[in-house]
Amino acid sequence: MKAGVLALQGAFREHGEVLDALGVATIEVRTPHELAGIDALVIPGGESTTMGMLLDTSGLREPIAERLRESLPVFGTCAGLILLADDVIDGRPDQEPFGVLDARVRRNAYGSQLASFEADLDVRGLAGGSFRAVFIRAPVVEAVGDAVEVLAEHDGHPVLVRQGRIFASTFHPELSGDLRIHERFLSEVMT
Ligand code: GLN
Repeated sequence: MKAGVLALQGAFREHGEVLDALGVATIEVRTPHELAGIDALVIPGGESTTMGMLLDTSGLREPIAERLRESLPVFGTCAGLILLADDVIDGRPDQEPFGVLDARVRRNAYGSQLASFEADLDVRGLAGGSFRAVFIRAPVVEAVGDAVEVLAEHDGHPVLVRQGRIFASTFHPELSGDLRIHERFLSEVMT
């Protein structure tokens, strides 16, 4: 099993460190060739508009879309969740997400006052107590389709969801020093 972390922009290094700590062979993905060799992909947080442009210049957009159509396990965090969603509000007009996650997502929805914050989450089925989650200019998931399982909520909004082999969070699980969410992603989608 080899995991890849999309390494065009954003918090990709930290995801790699978590996956390394879990003993998973991990590479940074910047080219279609690197994408071809992986069995699961993490799309990190960062800036979804910038990442979107870099998907085009790197030639990765269509190869990733194709792997997602073929059910590549994927974990999108924050900007990564925005890139997976099928309905993005307050995006740039030319912002085109992959559209594989049945969710309506509003970018930067917490406003400047609450741009970044931490919260303790009760994650369904996660042993070992609550998960301290770091939110950074996070999106808000306003609605999800029937196929989407909500694994954690904050203030009445889904913040960790699963749809088949797609995992997505509005927070940055790689910044908590807690490996459990990545572990859950790997164990649930790789079996
Ligand atoms: N606000 C960013 C965006 O719209 C997401 C922030 C993040 O990934 N931490 O892409």
